[in-house]
Amino acid sequence: MVKKFVIGFDVGGTTIRGAISDYNGNFIARIEEKLDKKSENAVSNQIIKLTYSLCHLSNTDIINLKSIGIASAGPIDLNKGALIKPTNLPFKYVPLTEPISREFRIPVFLLNDCTAGVLGEKEFGAGRDLNNIFFLALGTGIGGGAIVDGHLLFGKDGNAVEIGHITIDYEERLKCGCGKRGHWEAYCSGRNMPNFVRMKLENTKKEEVENSLLFEYTNSDSRLGSEFLFNAANNGDQLAIDIVKEIGKLNAIGFANIINAYDPSLITVGGSVALNNKKLVLKPIKQRIQDFTRNRIPRIASTPLAQDAGLYGAIAAALYPRKWFVFNNTC
Ligand SMILES: [Zn+2]
Repeated sequence: MVKKFVIGFDVGGTTIRGAISDYNGNFIARIEEKLDKKSENAVSNQIIKLTYSLCHLSNTDIINLKSIGIASAGPIDLNKGALIKPTNLPFKYVPLTEPISREFRIPVFLLNDCTAGVLGEKEFGAGRDLNNIFFLALGTGIGGGAIVDGHLLFGKDGNAVEIGHITIDYEERLKCGCGKRGHWEAYCSGRNMPNFVRMKLENTKKEEVENSLLFEYTNSDSRLGSEFLFNAANNGDQLAIDIVKEIGKLNAIGFANIINAYDPSLITVGGSVALNNKKLVLKPIKQRIQDFTRNRIPRIASTPLAQDAGLYGAIAAALYPRKWFVFNNTC
């Protein structure tokens, strides 16, 4: 019998999303749940359960399922099909492909979520006619994926292009979630932007801070995220506008590093921070980028796949593994 369907999953920090798709990348059913973090095996068990649910929701017999693709926040071990000391889970080793493949007796492919993002862009998004594409996720964290000369970059373990952890501040003022200092993600990601705001407020005249909406950030039990800063800027708060501009400059440095290293003809931008604040994020980048870039500046645009870039990439990995994966990658 001809197998007609594939399933893709996007495993994020707090949620897991899945979709069952036909061979043309049309989603027939989708599902979203809070990520189960109870044990090392909880994620694979959840994927098995959701695979049955997706087949049920779409009236698909499991026998017609060809393969499963999983896009996950890393770090991953491509060869073992597992997560290694993942940032979002309190475990050293989280096996994924083996238990799922054993359950359904079909191939299961794992890739880093931003590697999946650029693959989704190539197969189903804005990069279909291009061979040099970069996908950047500016969300809770910052990550990237690259296709260079038609090759999807994996690296030795599948964690190539960890662009959020490039150093943009040699003065090492802010600490990143990875434990190192001065990384792009420590300043401009949704998770860490409030730290950057607080650092700026400490160096601003007291009365200026008191007259700003950003004063709220100085409250010691403030749990304000990055959205509060963008809302304040949208409401005309001058201090917020200045800080958003400065974040734009730091982002422009990050983008320039991408262009200088990978020379893409298109950078698509996803992630919640960028997607929810398109103008305030992309405009200052475009204004400053030429100051830091050596190579010809490519087109920079929001991804048309919105929050689904990684999910589309997981579907593409399941549909076309031989086209994109390097098997037996031992170096
Ligand atoms: Zn870092």
